[in-house]
Amino acid sequence: MYEVAIRRRFAAAHQLRNYGGKCEDLHGHNWIVEVGVTGRELDEVGLLLDFKVLKAKVDGIMEELDHSYLNDHAWFREKNPSSENLARFLFERITADLGGEDLQVSHVRVWESEDSQATYRLG
Ligand SMILES: [Zn+2]
Repeated sequence: MYEVAIRRRFAAAHQLRNYGGKCEDLHGHNWIVEVGVTGRELDEVGLLLDFKVLKAKVDGIMEELDHSYLNDHAWFREKNPSSENLARFLFERITADLGGEDLQVSHVRVWESEDSQATYRLG
């Protein structure tokens, strides 16, 4: 299997409901998102998926989230916008958007700080 991955960034605010601590208060992060895609076959150029194409797909979603209040998004009305849930949301959105028969999102990794990240992965 081949895997390619890209990173993108966005800034957004959130609050973790029922956290019982500081993260329950309104605050923001400069989020970093890594998206990995796997597949078995390369195209005639030798690419699994052009980085440019993957970046463009992810950028559409980053644009929706950038400078927003994550708790307002439909997906996070009931689920907390934690890094874990954000990784899963992005995994499902990008999977739905990927469209290639051979291609699968392998993981989405979300950093909310330099030292803290959560991953949702295939399997
Ligand atoms: Zn936070």
